[in-house]
Amino acid sequence: VLPGSQLAERARRAIPGGVNSGQRSIPGLTDLVITHAEGARFRDADGREYVDYHAAFGPPLLGHNDPDVSAAVAEAGRTVDLCGVGVTRGEVELAETLVELVPSVEKVLLTSTGSEATFHALRVARAATGRRLVVKFQGCYHGWHDAVSLNVISAPDRVGGRDPISTGILPEVLEATLVLPFNDAGAVRAAFAEHGHDIAAVIVEPVPHNVGCLLPEQEFLSALREECTRAGSVLVFDEVITGFRHDLGGWQAISGITPDLTTMGKAIANGYPVGALGGRADLMELFSSRPGGPAFFAGTYNGHPAVVAAALATLRKLRTEPVHEHVFRLGDRIRAGLADVFAGLGVPALVTGYGSVFVEYFMTGPARTYDDLLRNDASMFIGYRRRLLEHGVFELPLNLKRSHVSYAHTDADADRLLEAAEAAARAR
Ligand code: PMP
Repeated sequence: VLPGSQLAERARRAIPGGVNSGQRSIPGLTDLVITHAEGARFRDADGREYVDYHAAFGPPLLGHNDPDVSAAVAEAGRTVDLCGVGVTRGEVELAETLVELVPSVEKVLLTSTGSEATFHALRVARAATGRRLVVKFQGCYHGWHDAVSLNVISAPDRVGGRDPISTGILPEVLEATLVLPFNDAGAVRAAFAEHGHDIAAVIVEPVPHNVGCLLPEQEFLSALREECTRAGSVLVFDEVITGFRHDLGGWQAISGITPDLTTMGKAIANGYPVGALGGRADLMELFSSRPGGPAFFAGTYNGHPAVVAAALATLRKLRTEPVHEHVFRLGDRIRAGLADVFAGLGVPALVTGYGSVFVEYFMTGPARTYDDLLRNDASMFIGYRRRLLEHGVFELPLNLKRSHVSYAHTDADADRLLEAAEAAARAR
Protein backbone atom coordinates (compact mmCIF):
# COMPACT_ATOMS: atom_id res chain seq x y z
CA VAL A 1 0.00 0.00 0.00
CA LEU A 2 1.41 3.38 -0.97
CA PRO A 3 1.75 5.95 1.84
CA GLY A 4 -0.75 8.19 0.03
CA SER A 5 -3.58 5.67 0.28
CA GLN A 6 -2.90 5.10 3.97
CA LEU A 7 -3.03 8.83 4.65
CA ALA A 8 -6.16 9.20 2.50
CA GLU A 9 -7.82 6.45 4.52
CA ARG A 10 -6.88 8.20 7.77
CA ALA A 11 -8.23 11.44 6.31
CA ARG A 12 -11.58 9.85 5.52
CA ARG A 13 -11.84 8.62 9.12
CA ALA A 14 -11.09 12.02 10.66
CA ILE A 15 -12.36 14.52 8.05
CA PRO A 16 -15.84 14.44 6.47
CA GLY A 17 -15.32 13.36 2.86
CA GLY A 18 -11.57 13.16 3.51
CA VAL A 19 -10.73 16.69 2.35
CA ASN A 20 -11.04 20.31 3.43
CA SER A 21 -10.84 21.67 -0.09
CA GLY A 22 -13.73 22.28 -2.44
CA GLN A 23 -13.08 19.00 -4.24
CA ARG A 24 -15.22 16.73 -2.11
CA SER A 25 -17.28 15.59 -5.04
CA ILE A 26 -14.50 14.70 -7.46
CA PRO A 27 -13.85 10.95 -7.63
CA GLY A 28 -10.19 10.04 -7.19
CA LEU A 29 -9.02 13.48 -6.13
CA THR A 30 -9.89 12.89 -2.51
CA ASP A 31 -7.06 10.30 -2.52
CA LEU A 32 -4.52 12.95 -3.41
CA VAL A 33 -2.31 13.62 -0.38
CA ILE A 34 -0.04 16.60 -1.01
CA THR A 35 3.37 16.67 0.63
CA HIS A 36 5.34 19.35 -1.25
CA ALA A 37 4.59 22.42 -3.30
CA GLU A 38 7.15 24.71 -4.87
CA GLY A 39 7.02 27.08 -7.79
CA ALA A 40 4.76 25.67 -10.51
CA ARG A 41 4.63 22.16 -9.06
CA PHE A 42 3.25 20.04 -6.29
CA ARG A 43 4.04 16.48 -5.28
CA ASP A 44 1.91 13.81 -3.62
CA ALA A 45 2.78 11.33 -0.89
CA ASP A 46 3.52 8.65 -3.47
CA GLY A 47 6.10 10.83 -5.20
CA ARG A 48 3.99 11.82 -8.23
CA GLU A 49 4.71 15.33 -9.41
CA TYR A 50 2.28 17.62 -11.23
CA VAL A 51 2.71 20.90 -13.05
CA ASP A 52 -0.01 22.80 -11.23
CA TYR A 53 -2.37 24.91 -13.33
CA HIS A 54 -5.16 24.66 -10.75
CA ALA A 55 -3.22 26.84 -8.30
CA ALA A 56 -5.59 26.39 -5.37
CA PHE A 57 -8.39 28.20 -7.25
CA GLY A 58 -6.08 31.13 -7.90
CA PRO A 59 -4.05 32.63 -5.04
CA PRO A 60 -0.39 31.75 -5.79
CA LEU A 61 0.19 34.18 -8.65
CA LEU A 62 3.90 34.14 -7.80
CA GLY A 63 3.96 30.33 -7.62
CA HIS A 64 3.92 28.06 -4.59
CA ASN A 65 6.11 28.91 -1.62
CA ASP A 66 7.58 32.00 -3.18
CA PRO A 67 10.88 32.48 -1.30
CA ASP A 68 10.32 36.21 -0.62
CA VAL A 69 6.83 35.61 0.74
CA SER A 70 7.98 32.65 2.86
CA ALA A 71 10.87 34.70 4.26
CA ALA A 72 8.53 37.57 5.16
CA VAL A 73 6.18 35.18 6.99
CA ALA A 74 9.10 33.62 8.91
CA GLU A 75 10.40 37.05 9.88
CA ALA A 76 6.97 38.10 11.15
CA GLY A 77 6.82 34.85 13.13
CA ARG A 78 10.01 35.85 14.91
CA THR A 79 9.22 39.47 15.63
CA VAL A 80 5.53 40.10 16.19
CA ASP A 81 2.45 38.03 17.00
CA LEU A 82 -1.32 38.41 17.14
CA CYS A 83 -2.20 40.71 20.03
CA GLY A 84 -5.73 41.74 19.12
CA VAL A 85 -5.32 45.35 20.18
CA GLY A 86 -4.25 48.42 18.25
CA VAL A 87 -2.67 47.89 14.85
CA THR A 88 0.71 46.70 13.68
CA ARG A 89 3.03 48.60 11.37
CA GLY A 90 2.29 45.95 8.74
CA GLU A 91 -1.45 46.60 8.88
CA VAL A 92 -0.89 50.32 8.38
CA GLU A 93 1.41 49.69 5.42
CA LEU A 94 -0.95 47.16 3.85
CA ALA A 95 -3.97 49.43 4.20
CA GLU A 96 -2.03 52.34 2.67
CA THR A 97 -0.82 50.13 -0.18
CA LEU A 98 -4.36 49.00 -1.02
CA VAL A 99 -5.65 52.57 -0.92
CA GLU A 100 -2.84 53.54 -3.28
CA LEU A 101 -3.29 50.64 -5.71
CA VAL A 102 -7.04 50.14 -6.05
CA PRO A 103 -8.64 53.24 -7.62
CA SER A 104 -11.95 53.35 -5.72
CA VAL A 105 -10.59 52.31 -2.33
CA GLU A 106 -10.40 55.21 0.12
CA LYS A 107 -10.43 53.12 3.28
CA VAL A 108 -9.96 49.41 3.83
CA LEU A 109 -10.56 46.69 6.41
CA LEU A 110 -8.74 43.37 6.51
CA THR A 111 -10.49 40.02 6.86
CA SER A 112 -9.17 36.47 6.72
CA THR A 113 -11.13 35.35 3.66
CA GLY A 114 -12.91 36.63 0.59
CA SER A 115 -16.20 35.32 1.98
CA GLU A 116 -15.98 37.59 4.99
CA ALA A 117 -15.23 40.54 2.75
CA THR A 118 -18.37 39.97 0.63
CA PHE A 119 -20.45 39.25 3.74
CA HIS A 120 -19.47 42.58 5.30
CA ALA A 121 -19.92 44.41 1.98
CA LEU A 122 -23.55 43.31 1.69
CA ARG A 123 -24.19 43.93 5.34
CA VAL A 124 -22.89 47.49 5.26
CA ALA A 125 -24.81 48.14 2.02
CA ARG A 126 -28.04 47.10 3.74
CA ALA A 127 -27.15 49.19 6.80
CA ALA A 128 -26.32 52.25 4.69
CA THR A 129 -29.41 52.11 2.49
CA GLY A 130 -31.95 50.63 4.89
CA ARG A 131 -32.94 48.33 2.03
CA ARG A 132 -33.27 44.59 1.66
CA LEU A 133 -32.55 43.30 -1.87
CA VAL A 134 -29.22 42.18 -3.28
CA VAL A 135 -28.75 41.69 -7.02
CA LYS A 136 -26.27 39.05 -8.16
CA PHE A 137 -25.54 37.41 -11.50
CA GLN A 138 -25.75 33.87 -12.84
CA GLY A 139 -22.43 32.09 -12.68
CA CYS A 140 -20.95 34.46 -10.08
CA TYR A 141 -19.85 33.09 -6.72
CA HIS A 142 -19.08 35.34 -3.78
CA GLY A 143 -18.19 32.99 -0.93
CA TRP A 144 -19.92 30.64 1.46
CA HIS A 145 -22.71 32.68 2.98
CA ASP A 146 -26.29 33.55 2.29
CA ALA A 147 -27.57 33.26 -1.21
CA VAL A 148 -24.44 34.66 -2.84
CA SER A 149 -22.83 31.24 -2.48
CA LEU A 150 -25.19 29.94 -5.14
CA ASN A 151 -23.91 30.17 -8.67
CA VAL A 152 -27.43 29.81 -10.00
CA ILE A 153 -30.44 29.96 -7.74
CA SER A 154 -33.28 29.57 -10.15
CA ALA A 155 -32.13 26.24 -11.58
CA PRO A 156 -30.20 24.27 -8.97
CA ASP A 157 -29.84 21.27 -11.22
CA ARG A 158 -27.80 23.21 -13.75
CA VAL A 159 -24.02 23.39 -13.95
CA GLY A 160 -22.58 25.00 -10.86
CA GLY A 161 -25.98 25.27 -9.21
CA ARG A 162 -26.63 24.04 -5.73
CA ASP A 163 -29.78 23.10 -3.96
CA PRO A 164 -30.67 26.03 -1.68
CA ILE A 165 -32.49 23.85 0.83
CA SER A 166 -29.52 21.61 1.51
CA THR A 167 -27.26 24.63 1.94
CA GLY A 168 -29.47 25.80 4.82
CA ILE A 169 -30.24 29.19 3.33
CA LEU A 170 -33.36 30.79 4.83
CA PRO A 171 -36.24 31.36 2.38
CA GLU A 172 -36.31 35.07 3.23
CA VAL A 173 -32.64 35.36 2.28
CA LEU A 174 -33.31 33.66 -1.06
CA GLU A 175 -36.27 35.97 -1.65
CA ALA A 176 -34.05 38.97 -0.99
CA THR A 177 -31.62 37.88 -3.71
CA LEU A 178 -32.37 38.71 -7.34
CA VAL A 179 -30.33 36.63 -9.80
CA LEU A 180 -29.89 38.18 -13.24
CA PRO A 181 -28.13 37.00 -16.39
CA PHE A 182 -24.56 38.29 -16.73
CA ASN A 183 -23.78 40.73 -19.57
CA ASP A 184 -27.47 41.63 -19.86
CA ALA A 185 -27.77 45.40 -19.40
CA GLY A 186 -31.49 45.23 -20.31
CA ALA A 187 -32.20 42.81 -17.46
CA VAL A 188 -30.37 45.14 -15.05
CA ARG A 189 -32.39 48.16 -16.18
CA ALA A 190 -35.64 46.19 -15.92
CA ALA A 191 -34.81 44.98 -12.40
CA PHE A 192 -34.08 48.54 -11.29
CA ALA A 193 -37.26 49.84 -12.91
CA GLU A 194 -39.27 47.39 -10.82
CA HIS A 195 -37.29 47.10 -7.56
CA GLY A 196 -34.82 50.02 -7.56
CA HIS A 197 -36.24 51.58 -4.39
CA ASP A 198 -35.49 48.36 -2.47
CA ILE A 199 -32.11 47.36 -3.97
CA ALA A 200 -29.41 47.72 -1.31
CA ALA A 201 -26.55 46.38 -3.41
CA VAL A 202 -25.47 44.93 -6.70
CA ILE A 203 -22.61 42.50 -6.30
CA VAL A 204 -20.70 41.28 -9.34
CA GLU A 205 -17.51 39.50 -10.26
CA PRO A 206 -16.44 41.94 -12.99
CA VAL A 207 -15.09 38.88 -14.80
CA PRO A 208 -17.02 35.81 -13.61
CA HIS A 209 -14.39 33.14 -13.05
CA ASN A 210 -16.26 30.67 -10.94
CA VAL A 211 -17.91 28.91 -13.82
CA GLY A 212 -15.53 29.28 -16.72
CA CYS A 213 -14.32 32.77 -17.47
CA LEU A 214 -16.78 35.24 -19.00
CA LEU A 215 -15.49 38.60 -20.19
CA PRO A 216 -17.72 41.56 -19.32
CA GLU A 217 -19.14 43.88 -21.93
CA GLN A 218 -18.43 47.51 -21.13
CA GLU A 219 -22.08 48.44 -21.70
CA PHE A 220 -23.08 45.95 -19.01
CA LEU A 221 -20.65 47.29 -16.40
CA SER A 222 -21.66 50.87 -17.28
CA ALA A 223 -25.33 49.97 -16.80
CA LEU A 224 -24.55 48.64 -13.32
CA ARG A 225 -22.85 51.90 -12.38
CA GLU A 226 -25.58 54.10 -13.85
CA GLU A 227 -28.49 52.23 -12.30
CA CYS A 228 -26.84 52.02 -8.86
CA THR A 229 -26.06 55.73 -8.92
CA ARG A 230 -29.58 56.65 -10.01
CA ALA A 231 -31.27 54.41 -7.41
CA GLY A 232 -28.83 55.07 -4.57
CA SER A 233 -27.77 51.39 -4.42
CA VAL A 234 -24.27 50.25 -3.52
CA LEU A 235 -22.20 48.74 -6.36
CA VAL A 236 -19.85 46.03 -5.08
CA PHE A 237 -17.09 44.72 -7.33
CA ASP A 238 -16.03 41.34 -6.04
CA GLU A 239 -12.38 41.44 -7.11
CA VAL A 240 -11.33 38.40 -5.09
CA ILE A 241 -10.06 36.82 -8.31
CA THR A 242 -9.60 39.79 -10.65
CA GLY A 243 -7.80 41.89 -8.04
CA PHE A 244 -3.99 41.93 -8.35
CA ARG A 245 -4.03 38.97 -10.76
CA HIS A 246 -5.28 40.84 -13.82
CA ASP A 247 -4.07 44.26 -12.80
CA LEU A 248 -2.72 45.71 -9.57
CA GLY A 249 -5.77 47.97 -9.48
CA GLY A 250 -8.22 45.18 -10.30
CA TRP A 251 -10.84 45.20 -13.05
CA GLN A 252 -11.91 48.70 -12.02
CA ALA A 253 -8.54 49.94 -13.26
CA ILE A 254 -9.00 48.05 -16.54
CA SER A 255 -12.64 49.01 -17.16
CA GLY A 256 -12.62 52.52 -15.70
CA ILE A 257 -15.88 51.73 -13.89
CA THR A 258 -15.79 52.81 -10.24
CA PRO A 259 -17.56 50.62 -7.69
CA ASP A 260 -18.60 51.88 -4.26
CA LEU A 261 -17.11 48.85 -2.48
CA THR A 262 -14.47 46.33 -3.50
CA THR A 263 -13.80 42.91 -2.06
CA MET A 264 -10.33 41.38 -2.35
CA GLY A 265 -8.54 38.14 -1.48
CA LYS A 266 -6.66 35.29 -3.13
CA ALA A 267 -3.65 36.76 -5.02
CA ILE A 268 -3.34 39.57 -2.47
CA ALA A 269 -1.12 37.35 -0.26
CA ASN A 270 -0.11 34.60 -2.68
CA GLY A 271 -2.06 31.96 -0.78
CA TYR A 272 -1.96 33.12 2.84
CA PRO A 273 -5.43 33.84 4.26
CA VAL A 274 -6.03 37.53 3.68
CA GLY A 275 -9.19 39.18 2.46
CA ALA A 276 -10.05 42.85 2.34
CA LEU A 277 -13.05 45.11 1.96
CA GLY A 278 -12.43 48.64 0.77
CA GLY A 279 -14.28 51.50 -0.80
CA ARG A 280 -15.87 54.88 -0.33
CA ALA A 281 -14.82 56.48 2.95
CA ASP A 282 -18.39 57.32 3.99
CA LEU A 283 -19.49 53.69 3.64
CA MET A 284 -16.35 52.27 5.24
CA GLU A 285 -16.67 54.68 8.17
CA LEU A 286 -19.94 52.94 9.07
CA PHE A 287 -17.75 50.14 10.38
CA SER A 288 -16.20 52.38 13.03
CA SER A 289 -17.34 50.73 16.21
CA ARG A 290 -18.89 53.82 17.72
CA PRO A 291 -21.83 52.99 20.00
CA GLY A 292 -24.91 52.44 17.89
CA GLY A 293 -22.85 52.24 14.69
CA PRO A 294 -24.82 50.25 12.15
CA ALA A 295 -22.27 47.74 10.98
CA PHE A 296 -20.13 46.27 13.70
CA PHE A 297 -17.09 44.48 12.42
CA ALA A 298 -14.88 41.86 14.05
CA GLY A 299 -12.69 38.84 13.40
CA THR A 300 -10.06 37.46 15.78
CA TYR A 301 -7.49 36.86 13.05
CA ASN A 302 -8.05 39.97 10.95
CA GLY A 303 -4.69 41.55 10.23
CA HIS A 304 -2.65 38.66 11.61
CA PRO A 305 0.98 39.82 11.35
CA ALA A 306 2.21 36.74 9.46
CA VAL A 307 -0.39 36.94 6.72
CA VAL A 308 -0.09 40.71 6.50
CA ALA A 309 3.65 40.20 5.97
CA ALA A 310 2.78 37.72 3.20
CA ALA A 311 0.53 40.30 1.54
CA LEU A 312 3.13 43.06 1.77
CA ALA A 313 5.84 40.81 0.31
CA THR A 314 3.48 39.68 -2.48
CA LEU A 315 2.40 43.19 -3.42
CA ARG A 316 6.01 44.43 -3.30
CA LYS A 317 7.02 41.72 -5.76
CA LEU A 318 4.01 42.34 -8.01
CA ARG A 319 5.03 46.01 -8.16
CA THR A 320 8.76 45.58 -8.69
CA GLU A 321 9.10 42.50 -10.90
CA PRO A 322 7.62 41.83 -14.36
CA VAL A 323 5.07 39.37 -12.98
CA HIS A 324 2.10 40.53 -15.05
CA GLU A 325 4.18 40.75 -18.20
CA HIS A 326 5.31 37.14 -17.68
CA VAL A 327 1.93 35.60 -16.88
CA PHE A 328 0.15 37.50 -19.65
CA ARG A 329 2.72 36.36 -22.23
CA LEU A 330 2.56 32.75 -21.06
CA GLY A 331 -1.24 32.87 -20.85
CA ASP A 332 -1.45 34.13 -24.45
CA ARG A 333 0.97 31.41 -25.56
CA ILE A 334 -1.05 28.69 -23.84
CA ARG A 335 -4.41 29.92 -25.16
CA ALA A 336 -3.09 30.12 -28.73
CA GLY A 337 -1.26 26.78 -28.40
CA LEU A 338 -4.31 24.96 -27.05
CA ALA A 339 -6.53 26.39 -29.78
CA ASP A 340 -4.04 25.10 -32.37
CA VAL A 341 -3.92 21.65 -30.76
CA PHE A 342 -7.72 21.28 -30.77
CA ALA A 343 -8.09 22.70 -34.28
CA GLY A 344 -5.37 20.35 -35.54
CA LEU A 345 -7.28 17.37 -34.15
CA GLY A 346 -10.67 18.61 -35.35
CA VAL A 347 -11.98 18.90 -31.77
CA PRO A 348 -14.66 21.62 -31.45
CA ALA A 349 -13.28 23.88 -28.73
CA LEU A 350 -13.26 27.47 -27.57
CA VAL A 351 -10.16 28.43 -25.61
CA THR A 352 -10.67 31.63 -23.70
CA GLY A 353 -9.72 33.51 -20.54
CA TYR A 354 -7.78 36.64 -19.73
CA GLY A 355 -4.13 37.21 -18.89
CA SER A 356 -3.01 34.43 -16.59
CA VAL A 357 -6.38 32.65 -16.63
CA PHE A 358 -7.36 30.15 -19.30
CA VAL A 359 -10.14 27.66 -19.88
CA GLU A 360 -10.89 25.20 -22.68
CA TYR A 361 -14.59 24.83 -23.45
CA PHE A 362 -15.55 21.93 -25.67
CA MET A 363 -18.13 23.83 -27.67
CA THR A 364 -18.26 26.32 -30.50
CA GLY A 365 -19.68 29.78 -30.69
CA PRO A 366 -19.48 32.68 -28.28
CA ALA A 367 -19.28 32.55 -24.48
CA ARG A 368 -21.04 35.76 -23.39
CA THR A 369 -23.44 34.51 -20.79
CA TYR A 370 -23.76 31.72 -18.32
CA ASP A 371 -26.36 30.06 -20.54
CA ASP A 372 -23.80 29.87 -23.37
CA LEU A 373 -21.58 27.75 -21.14
CA LEU A 374 -24.28 25.11 -20.85
CA ARG A 375 -23.29 24.12 -24.42
CA ASN A 376 -19.90 22.96 -23.13
CA ASP A 377 -19.51 19.18 -23.39
CA ALA A 378 -19.01 18.43 -19.68
CA SER A 379 -17.97 14.81 -20.10
CA MET A 380 -15.37 15.79 -22.71
CA PHE A 381 -14.12 18.58 -20.43
CA ILE A 382 -13.77 16.31 -17.41
CA GLY A 383 -12.39 13.36 -19.40
CA TYR A 384 -9.77 15.57 -21.07
CA ARG A 385 -8.62 16.99 -17.75
CA ARG A 386 -8.50 13.56 -16.14
CA ARG A 387 -6.21 12.43 -18.94
CA LEU A 388 -4.01 15.50 -18.37
CA LEU A 389 -3.43 14.21 -14.82
CA GLU A 390 -1.96 11.01 -16.26
CA HIS A 391 0.58 13.21 -18.03
CA GLY A 392 1.55 15.01 -14.82
CA VAL A 393 -0.37 18.20 -15.67
CA PHE A 394 -2.95 19.34 -13.13
CA GLU A 395 -6.03 21.20 -14.31
CA LEU A 396 -9.02 20.64 -12.02
CA PRO A 397 -11.27 17.95 -13.56
CA LEU A 398 -14.45 19.72 -12.55
CA ASN A 399 -16.73 21.12 -15.22
CA LEU A 400 -15.96 24.65 -16.40
CA LYS A 401 -13.22 25.32 -13.87
CA ARG A 402 -10.61 27.83 -14.95
CA SER A 403 -6.84 27.29 -14.84
CA HIS A 404 -4.05 29.67 -13.82
CA VAL A 405 -0.51 30.51 -14.88
CA SER A 406 1.94 31.79 -12.28
CA TYR A 407 5.21 33.72 -12.34
CA ALA A 408 6.92 30.41 -11.59
CA HIS A 409 5.63 28.69 -14.75
CA THR A 410 8.17 28.56 -17.54
CA ASP A 411 7.94 28.12 -21.29
CA ALA A 412 8.99 24.51 -20.73
CA ASP A 413 5.95 24.09 -18.44
CA ALA A 414 3.75 25.54 -21.19
CA ASP A 415 5.28 23.06 -23.68
CA ARG A 416 4.55 20.26 -21.23
CA LEU A 417 0.91 21.35 -21.02
CA LEU A 418 0.54 21.59 -24.80
CA GLU A 419 2.05 18.11 -25.32
CA ALA A 420 -0.23 16.66 -22.64
CA ALA A 421 -3.23 18.46 -24.19
CA GLU A 422 -2.48 16.93 -27.56
CA ALA A 423 -2.31 13.43 -26.07
CA ALA A 424 -5.38 13.97 -23.88
CA ALA A 425 -7.52 15.36 -26.69
CA ARG A 426 -6.35 12.69 -29.13
CA ALA A 427 -7.40 9.94 -26.69
CA ARG A 428 -11.00 11.19 -26.46
N1 PMP B 1 -15.50 35.93 -4.32
C1 PMP B 1 -15.00 35.31 -5.40
C2 PMP B 1 -15.12 35.97 -6.72
C3 PMP B 1 -14.37 34.07 -5.27
O1 PMP B 1 -13.90 33.46 -6.35
C4 PMP B 1 -14.27 33.49 -3.99
C5 PMP B 1 -13.58 32.16 -3.79
N2 PMP B 1 -13.60 31.30 -4.86
C6 PMP B 1 -14.80 34.17 -2.90
C7 PMP B 1 -15.39 35.40 -3.09
C8 PMP B 1 -14.70 33.63 -1.52
O2 PMP B 1 -13.39 33.72 -1.05
P1 PMP B 1 -12.88 32.73 0.10
O3 PMP B 1 -12.88 31.36 -0.48
O4 PMP B 1 -11.50 33.25 0.43
O5 PMP B 1 -13.80 32.85 1.24
